[in-house]
Parts: sequence; C-alpha cells; structure tokens
Amino acid sequence: MKYYITTPIYYVNDRPHLGHAYTTVAADVLARWRRSKGEEVFFLTGTDEHGAKVAQAAKNANQNPREFCDEKARSFKNAWQRFGIEYSNFIRTTDAAHEAAVQKFLQALFEAGYICKARYKGLYCQGCEQYKIPDDLIEGLCPDHQTKPQEMEEESYFFKLSKLEKDLEQKIESDEIKIRPVERKNEVLSFIKSGLKDISISRKNVKWGIPLPFDAEHTAYVWVDAFLNYLTGLGWDGSVGEDFYKLKTKNQKLDFWPPDLQLMAKDIVRVHATIWLGLLLALKIPPPKNFFVHGFFTLNDQKMSKSLGNVIWPEELTEKFGADAARFLLLSFTPFGQDGDISWEKMAEKYNSDLADGLGNLTSRVFNLIEKNFDGKIEATKSDLDISYLMKDIKIYESLLTIKEKIEWANKYIDENKVWELVKNDKEKGREVLSRLLGAIVAIGEALAPFMPKISEKILARAKAGKIKKGEILFPKIV
Ligand SMILES: [Zn+2]
Repeated sequence: MKYYITTPIYYVNDRPHLGHAYTTVAADVLARWRRSKGEEVFFLTGTDEHGAKVAQAAKNANQNPREFCDEKARSFKNAWQRFGIEYSNFIRTTDAAHEAAVQKFLQALFEAGYICKARYKGLYCQGCEQYKIPDDLIEGLCPDHQTKPQEMEEESYFFKLSKLEKDLEQKIESDEIKIRPVERKNEVLSFIKSGLKDISISRKNVKWGIPLPFDAEHTAYVWVDAFLNYLTGLGWDGSVGEDFYKLKTKNQKLDFWPPDLQLMAKDIVRVHATIWLGLLLALKIPPPKNFFVHGFFTLNDQKMSKSLGNVIWPEELTEKFGADAARFLLLSFTPFGQDGDISWEKMAEKYNSDLADGLGNLTSRVFNLIEKNFDGKIEATKSDLDISYLMKDIKIYESLLTIKEKIEWANKYIDENKVWELVKNDKEKGREVLSRLLGAIVAIGEALAPFMPKISEKILARAKAGKIKKGEILFPKIV
C-alpha cells in the first residue's frame, strides 16, 4: 500500500513558527504510523520561494535572491531536524525541475483554453502582494499590514476557475475529495456556491518568479507556482493528460499520486479547495483524496504575534523539553482540527504530569522493581493498546489520550497492589503483577513510537533487554 502525505510548502520569508511545526509534526506522526503498519509512505514538505516580497527581503539582507532562499530553506530544514522529522523530500519552488514543470503545465493550461488575458483592477497590498476585496479590509486597511492598499490596474492572465465551479462543488459535496473537519467542508462549499471568479495568475513587474511560457513579460503568480509542488515533489515533469499516466508508469515516485492526505491550517483551505483543485480538474489530473484542516494556537488566550512579542518559537520548545516531548506537547493540547490555547506554564505542567510523573515514573518504578527483586528478569504478559481506529481517522489527540489512560491505569495498578511490598511478601504474586506491568509498558512504548520515536526506542530497549535495568531518567522534572 502506498500513502502520500503532504504539508503545505512554507513561505521562505517566514521564520519557522509554531504553526509550521504543528502541521509538520502531525504529518510526521501520521507518516511514521503508516510506515509502522507496513505501508510505503511518501511525506513531502518544502519551501515556497518566489515573488516580489522575497526579492525585496533578499535585497534588504544584501543578498541575491538565490542565496537568501538557500539560507532560509536551510533554516526550515534545521527546524525539522530539531523535531526529528523524517520527510521523504524537501521541495523548493526555485528548483530548476519545478520551474520547468510549472511552465510545461501552464502551456498546457493555456492550450486547453483555461487561460485568458484581461485587465485587472483592484486594491493592491504591497505587503501581501495581493489584490484585496473590500471584505478583506478593516477600516480600509490591510489587517495584516495596517496599510492602505493602492488602487492598481494591470494587464494579467486569468485562470478560468469559474468554469470549474460545478465540478468542484460536486466532488467536494460527495466527499470524492473529502475535506475534514466537516465545518471546513461546509465553509468551502458555501464559498464555492456563492460563485467562483476567474483569478489572476500572472504579474508583470515581478522578476523573481517563473516566466509564463506563452508571454515571458509575465511571471506566474505565487499560488499557481506553489501548489504544483505537490506534483513536482514526486518528480513530475509537467505532463498532463495521457502523458501524465505514461509518466506515472515510468516514475515510481509519481506512482504515489494522488495524495492520500494533505494537511493544512484553516487559513489556506479555501485557496487549496478552489485554485489548487481547479488546476488539477482543468487538466484531468486525479485530485487528492483528503484534506485535513487544523486550527490555530493562541498563547495565553491571545493571538501569537511577533510584533507584540507574544510568541513561542519552535526551537525554544525543543530546547526546553527535548524533541520528543516537544512533539508530544504540540499534539496533546487540543483535538487536531480545532483551535487551542497554550502557554509555557500549561506546557510545563503537562510535561511534569503526563511525562515526568506519568510515563517516566511508571517505567522507572517498574524497571527498578524488576532489577532489584528479580535480577532484571521477567517475562512480559501481552497487553492490548489499540489506537489504530483513531489514527486512521486522524484522531491524533484522542490517540494520545488513550495512551495516557493506559499509563494512568498502570501507575494506579502499582499503587493498588503495593508492588514494592508485594515483591517482599508474596514473590510469585509480585512477579505476576510486574509481568502485567511490563507488558503494559511494551504496549505503551510501541504505541508512542510515531509520537516520540527516540523515547519509545529507549523504553522498548530497556523493557526487552535480557536484563532489565532502571536506567537513566527519561523525563527530568521541569521547575
Ligand atoms: Zn497586506
């Protein structure tokens, strides 16, 4: 079985933030879980590197855009390394092969009659590099930049998205392309039903972009360029129609197409569900099977904001808690798909209660009792801990809750049986209880593998050693 999972590619002007980490860690957990079930998984992430804003930022940094993007792409790779992310490919939209494929695709789109030239007039925000509609603005200002967009008019090429309105509606409505949580599906559907407009897909004065093959004065607008990464990340060369299928039989990676799961935050589901899916449907490339849309974190009930200093950076999280605990904490505050609130206090509390006092205490107590009283030798009794039915449904948070319940059960089982006395008074009963506890620890260690790969490895190595030892503390308490 092949499984293809993607995160969005991240905008290279951004510093890797907690939202990026959230999506990427979730994707890594799901990818690892699928691999553990024997599936062949391709996990794609990367960076989105074109546009006037990138060129401007490079200039401000006294770098050429290429150097600037190289450095920024590296900072994302480093961030993912710190979280123990194992992606299959890291795609960059400035890769030559990506650029060539985008051009080939746009030529095909043009020949298929999906592109027309028109004048585009609107309110343009320099900061967003985007035209704004009045509904986007708050008191006439761009909400992201607090600036007044300029009235602008230019010649542009348009993608005839309106032609695909019915097709998109039908495929999303019927769950042929399944969007979850269902609130997000409904939101997307009502947007589509309100009428899709053709969208401008080219810019004239943006040099740091992919030139249109049929008019080199224009470069492709970032969305079109960026979305096609999901195809080029598999080595697609821009082929469409019959050639697409021919290429698929020759290229093993492209055989992963279509994506089984595309993860994204809720602010970009609409563009994915219209522009991205529209591009595929226009040229009859099979669309992705699932979108799963997650929410945002607030920090102490406030929007995270760099300018207000109200931010937790991903590297601060891994530094304080270590990679595995940071992964665990990111995913255990709120059901995947909903908004959540975090704070340093809440995270430290959760770390101490669930990991140091919960899992850490359980393993050290059980291993210690086995080492001291049975010379490290006890057979584990097989124990059940099934999270498959949850993980299949992308219920990541619920899976962690189920594991947590097992840990709580085991700790309580030690206390209720007063195992430290039992091993002195009734050695056989003590052996039986510890055997059951060891089995529970093995089941917990295995279930945690996708979430906390290194910790899981340590726990299982100790639990399955010929001679069990207490070993070092897994989760030092944080004060
Ligand atoms: Zn703006």
